[in-house]
Amino acid sequence: MSASAKLPPFDAADPLGIDDLLEPEDLAIRDTVRDWAADRVLPYVADWYEKGELPGIRDLARELGALGALGMSLTGYGCAGASAVQYGLACLELEAADSGIRSLVSVQGSLAMYAIHRFGSEEQKRQWLPRMAAGEVIGCFGLTEPDHGSDPASMRTHAKRDGDDWVLSGRKMWITNGSVAGVAVVWAQTEEGIRGFVVPTDSPGFSAPEIKHKWSLRASVTSELVLDGVRLPGSAVLPEVTGLRGPLSCLSHARYGIVWGAMGAARSSFEAALDYARSREQFGRPIGGFQLTQAKLADMAVELHKGILLAHHLGRRMDAGRLRPEQVSFGKLNNVREAIEICRTARTILGANGISLEYPVMRHATNLESVLTYEGTVEMHQLVLGKALTGLDAFR
Ligand SMILES: Cc1cc2nc3c(=O)[nH]c(=O)nc-3n(C[C@H](O)[C@H](O)[C@H](O)COP(=O)(O)OP(=O)(O)OC[C@H]3O[C@@H](n4cnc5c(N)ncnc54)[C@H](O)[C@@H]3O)c2cc1C
Repeated sequence: MSASAKLPPFDAADPLGIDDLLEPEDLAIRDTVRDWAADRVLPYVADWYEKGELPGIRDLARELGALGALGMSLTGYGCAGASAVQYGLACLELEAADSGIRSLVSVQGSLAMYAIHRFGSEEQKRQWLPRMAAGEVIGCFGLTEPDHGSDPASMRTHAKRDGDDWVLSGRKMWITNGSVAGVAVVWAQTEEGIRGFVVPTDSPGFSAPEIKHKWSLRASVTSELVLDGVRLPGSAVLPEVTGLRGPLSCLSHARYGIVWGAMGAARSSFEAALDYARSREQFGRPIGGFQLTQAKLADMAVELHKGILLAHHLGRRMDAGRLRPEQVSFGKLNNVREAIEICRTARTILGANGISLEYPVMRHATNLESVLTYEGTVEMHQLVLGKALTGLDAFR
């Protein structure tokens, strides 16, 4: 028997054997989320995307809650207490269906719930987290403003003390889940610096008009938040943080999920291209038999599985409490950028069919344009890494 006969067979779905890194429970969680997405999202998402809506978002949220996918890596208060790797695997499977569904879960768990879990009072945690973990209440996270995106320190939304109360005024822009949220975590300038506020969305003066005419993340609710003198009790402020450190640490957690999620969109596009290359014939043979197509597929597979390996590595560091924000920037920068490249190359392999919604490729590619920009643009993550490498701050 030759040495190679003892080796496990080559698996096109896992050419590096990365699954060997996973425990049986990790695989079970991954399969559960994959099956849910195959049943509840994949048959419908092209239609949602075409119509620019996410109907049944409240039912989807409850089902995701029942799966344990909301606030998945948080502990207590009805949260699943999963590992960072398990949370990442769920993000990958959800984004393989659509970035909009992964965004719903990221904003709920890694932004809104994470902010309350990490910086909230015991009363805030008890009031909101169990219902958010169950998907009964949807949350949103308001940081970006019409005139202040990459530079949130300059935000204009402000909160003023009025007796024991706070009064919030300002506008937030591009807020995922905004119009369907029952609670908004809103960041605002105060005399003490930037503070976070837990805002019930039925508060007088709060409104969240939906943003339409998007060509990306169409199966996702994106909204403006208008805060017109919203009066909140003194207890609405997140007591445990002051300054930009608050929102930035939430973003770091959400970006970590994107490192995995982007590879889900890339995997779906790669699989569509591979399948197509095997069956589509031109010049009397499958196009996958041409060297130029094989070069594309090989390069896509290399970037896809390098990206997944990187996500695993960062997940293990997060589970060990050793993941630095610069390392998250490294992962987000690489994986989203490479995921878009994989989608674009997949699109070429599908030829004209590549632009059709019958295939997932173009939908993923346009979704990833948002993913490239939100949670820190490519340039912001280059600046984070550039600063860490040189010790020189080039942000301003
Ligand atoms: C679909 C979608 C959903 C979103 N969801 C949310 C959400 O839930 N909550 C939320 O708070 N925000 C959300 N955002 C907003 C997102 O985080 C911002 O769009 C992002 O931070 C960039 O801000 P901006 O669009 O204002 O771009 P800008 O900051 O105006 O940047 C424009 C360009 O200038 C570049 N640039 C800026 N400064 C520099 C510099 N110093 N050096 C080099 N280049 C620079 C940027 O990299 C970018 O290429 C969402 C966005 C989208 C598209």
